Amino acid sequence: MHTKNSIVGNNSNPITSSTIHQVEDLTINWHITEACNYRCQYCYAHWKDQPDRRELFHHPDRTIDLLEHVFRFFHPENTQNPLRKTLSWKSVRLNIAGGEPSILNGRLVEIARAAREIGFRLSIISNGSKLSHEALQLLAPDLTCLGISLDSNDPAINRAIGRNDRHGKLLNVNELIENLRSARFLNPLMTIKLNTVVNRLNAGEDLSHLVEQVQPDRWKVLRMLPVLDTSLAISDKQFAAYVRRHEAFASIQCIEDHEDMCESYLMIDPFGRFFQNRPTLSSDGYVYSKPILSVGAGAAFSEMAFNPIGFQSRYTDGQGQS
Ligand code: SF4
Repeated sequence: MHTKNSIVGNNSNPITSSTIHQVEDLTINWHITEACNYRCQYCYAHWKDQPDRRELFHHPDRTIDLLEHVFRFFHPENTQNPLRKTLSWKSVRLNIAGGEPSILNGRLVEIARAAREIGFRLSIISNGSKLSHEALQLLAPDLTCLGISLDSNDPAINRAIGRNDRHGKLLNVNELIENLRSARFLNPLMTIKLNTVVNRLNAGEDLSHLVEQVQPDRWKVLRMLPVLDTSLAISDKQFAAYVRRHEAFASIQCIEDHEDMCESYLMIDPFGRFFQNRPTLSSDGYVYSKPILSVGAGAAFSEMAFNPIGFQSRYTDGQGQS
């Protein structure tokens, strides 16, 4: 459990703690692009079809620079990292998120390879729509974990949420399941994680059949975070009912309610800035650091608040789940 007084208010002057919490991986979530082919109503940002030209991934040299800065700063042996006062970790995992990372096609494969060469463990979170057999065969060997976001098995609900592309095309779940099976065959050590955002449109659904088909190693059930839009928000009772309906999967579930998400993720935006969801601090629900490539990872990180105990509480078995 995390408490408010466990928050590192400003990382240049962290609150000291007598307990060092241990995690296997320190996970850095890089939201590599804001662009996405879907339009989920609850999506946190103003996603676009085409990536902004200023997003760092377009520039191979700057991408490598960013990854090297971040890897050095979060290396477990970097004594200058203020997180070490409250957390200890064995390796650093880059979790590539979006927007939708797979719309980068071959560039995503190049960045995945570069991140592995620098020393990161690697995971990707995707809506699955562009993870073709070929793409997964290229990516799977480098992945520790592949996360797929699936909210519903009902085409009407998926459409209502906005989980279709501009031509109205929905995810082909059977094809995805087949592609995941071959990816697992290629890399049996890769874990598969399912992410489901519970909101007003899918809160009444039973997703058991879909979960049984995908056979994830983990299933993260997140309550929709009403940062900007409250129209799809659900009550405590609705969220509890959803969790209860799927209690057969309790052994693989990770439940995240609103407060678990605040300041418990390490996140970098597509422009190479740390950012956090802290609804009370800014008009768009986020606070941003200066660019890491301008001021260095340490100086940028010192501007952020981070809750190491909230982070650690999501790693109950030592396996990162972001
Ligand atoms: S798939 Fe993900 S990034 Fe795309 S719109 Fe939905 S929540 Fe946003």
